[in-house]
Amino acid sequence: MVERLASVTHELRTPLNGILGLSQLLLQMKPTPEQREYLEMIRGSGVTLLTVLNDILDYSRIHGVGLRLDSEPFHIRRWMRQCVKTLAPQAHGKGLELAYWVEPEVPGVIVADAIRLQQVLVNLIVNAIKYTNEGEVVVEASRLERNGDRTWLHFCVRDTGIGIPRSRHQSIFEPFAQASSRTSESSGLGLGLAISSEIMHHMGGVIRVESEPGAGSRFHVEVPVRVSSDVDEEERNAVSLDGIRALLIDDSEVTRVLLERQLRLWGVEVTATGHAEAALAALSLDSYSFFLIDSQMPGVDVFALAEEIQGRRALPGVLMTSAPEHIEREILRSIGIVGQLSKPVAPSQLLRAIEIIRRGQPVQKTEEVPPSALDPLPLQGLRVLVAEDDPVTRLLTVRTLEKNGADAVAVTNGAEALRMTWDDGFDAAVLDLEMPELGGLAAARRIRLRERASGQHLTLVATTAHGRREDRNRCRAAGIDGFLSKPFEEMDLVRAVQTETRGEIFDRAAALKRAQGDASLLSELVGGFLTDFPQDLAILASEMDRQQFSRIERLSHRLKGSLLTLAAERAAREALDLETSARGEDAERCRVAFDRLRAELHRLEAELRSLSDCPPHLGIGTR
Ligand code: ADP
Repeated sequence: MVERLASVTHELRTPLNGILGLSQLLLQMKPTPEQREYLEMIRGSGVTLLTVLNDILDYSRIHGVGLRLDSEPFHIRRWMRQCVKTLAPQAHGKGLELAYWVEPEVPGVIVADAIRLQQVLVNLIVNAIKYTNEGEVVVEASRLERNGDRTWLHFCVRDTGIGIPRSRHQSIFEPFAQASSRTSESSGLGLGLAISSEIMHHMGGVIRVESEPGAGSRFHVEVPVRVSSDVDEEERNAVSLDGIRALLIDDSEVTRVLLERQLRLWGVEVTATGHAEAALAALSLDSYSFFLIDSQMPGVDVFALAEEIQGRRALPGVLMTSAPEHIEREILRSIGIVGQLSKPVAPSQLLRAIEIIRRGQPVQKTEEVPPSALDPLPLQGLRVLVAEDDPVTRLLTVRTLEKNGADAVAVTNGAEALRMTWDDGFDAAVLDLEMPELGGLAAARRIRLRERASGQHLTLVATTAHGRREDRNRCRAAGIDGFLSKPFEEMDLVRAVQTETRGEIFDRAAALKRAQGDASLLSELVGGFLTDFPQDLAILASEMDRQQFSRIERLSHRLKGSLLTLAAERAAREALDLETSARGEDAERCRVAFDRLRAELHRLEAELRSLSDCPPHLGIGTR
C-alpha cells in the first residue's frame, strides 16, 4: 500500500515540478502586474499541493513501515537559527514578532536526527504563525536533565494566537484533525501534528499542548538526545564584554527581554526601552557604547530618533530589520547606523556586530547580500550535462542552468549520459534517478568506476521525485556528490552544482583569520599538515582494512579539526562524513567516505603546494 502510494505521489510530483519551475521562470521574464499576480497564484497553489502531497506520503510511510531515524552530530544553535530564520518572512509578513532563545546550558553539539527534529519544530512554528493574527511567536530550547552523555531537551513554541479548546488537546495529534472549523488560514490537511507526534514517538520523546481559546498556545516537545564531545565554535557564551553598555530600543517586549538576557550573559550593561522619549532620557543620564534599534516601531519615526541620538551623543547604532529593506548605506551612516541585523537577531551575529563596533570599524550587513548585477553569474564557465527523461523537467533544468551562466547539454537517459561523459569536457552532471534503461544510480556507479582508472572526478548531482531519505544514502554510496528532491527551487540547483564544483579547497583568508592574522603561524600550520597528513592517511587506511571503527572515528575526528583550522572546508566535510559513518559502523559508507576524503586531501595538498612555491619534500608555508 505504502509503495503504491509512493509511486502515485511520484507520478504527481514530476508534473508538479514542471508547474512550479516553469511558473518561476515565467515570473522572471518581466510579466505585467496582472500576469505576475496569476503566476504567483499558480505557484502558491502548486506549493500548497506539494505540502499536502508530502504530508500524505510522509504520514503513510511512517505509519505503515515505521521510521528509520538517522543520528548525526549537529550544532544545535546553528540548527535552531536556521529553523527559525527561514520562517521569519512568513511571521513578519503577518506583522508578528518572531524571537528565539537557547538556554546557555543546552549543549553545543548533540547527536540526533536533525532533519526529523527540524520537521517537528518547523511544523510547530508554521502552525503558530498560521493561527496567530497579532502578537508574537517565541521558540525556546532548554535542557531538562543530563545523565552522562544523554540529555533531555525541551523545546517550547508559544504564540499569542486563537488558542485551542481543552476538549481538543488530545485529538489534534490524530490524523486529519482540525481543532476549529475551517478558516481561511487552515489550508492544511490536519496531518502536521499527527506526523510530529509519530516522529516524537519514534525518538522516545513527547509532544503536548497547553492552550485556552483566545489565550494563545504553548506546544512542548521533550526529547532525549546524545551529547557530543565536540564544541561549537559559534557558541561563545563565555565571552566577556565587560564595560560595554548598550541602549536597546524595541517596542516588542519579548525581543527586549531576550536580547537583554543575551547581552547581560556576555557582561554587557543594558538599558532597554520601547519608547523614543525614554531612550532619549536614558541617553542624557548615562553613556553608552552603542545603540540597537528596531526599524519598525508603531508611532516612532525610527530614523528621526536615530538622528536625534546621533545629534546628542554620536553613538554607533545597529538597526534590526524585519523586512528586506534596502536603505542606502550613506543615509544610514549619516544617522549613525553602522550595521544591520535581520530579526530574529541571532546571538552569533549580534556578537560579531559588537566586536566590530569595538574595533571601530563599520559593520557590514551580516546577512547574505544578493549578488549585484555586476557579479559574474554563479555557474559562469561550467559545462553541465543534464540526464532527464521527463521533457518538462529537462527543459526546466537546462534553462535554469543556462540562465545562471552554465553551458548545459541535455540527454534523455543514463546510457547516453555515460557515453557523453567519456568526453572530459564536463564539470558536472545532473542525473535523474528514475530514468528508463539506465537510471542515475547505475550511471553514477559506472562513471565512478571508470574514473578509478583516470583519476578524474566529475561532479554528480542526483535529482529524484521520490522524497525518500534512504535515496540520499544510496546516492552517497554510489559516489554522487549532491542530491536534490523534486520539485527543487532554482537556487537549490544552482547551489548544488556550484558548491560541489566550486567549493573552496582552501580558503586562505579564513585560515589566516583562524591563525589570528599571523601569516608565519599559518605557514607553520600548513607545513605541519603537509608533513603529517600522509602518515595519518596511511594509519587510517590500515584501520579501514581492519574495520576498527572506533579508531577510524577518532582519527577522522582529529583530522577534521586540523582541516577546519586550515579552513579546508571540503576536506573537513569529508572527514566528518567518515567520522559519522565510522560511528554508525557502516563499512560500506566508510569505504566511500574514505575514498572521497583521500581524493580531497590530495587536492588540498596540490593546492597548498601550488601556493607555497616550494618543492614537495620541503612542504613549508604559504605565500
Ligand atoms: P493543519 O494545520 O494542517 O490543519 P495540524 O495537524 O498541524 O494540521 O494541526 C491540527 C489542528 O490543530 C489545526 O487544524 C488547528 O486547528 C490546531 N492547531 C495547531 N496548532 C495550533 C496553534 N498554534 N494555535 C491554534 N490552533 C492550532
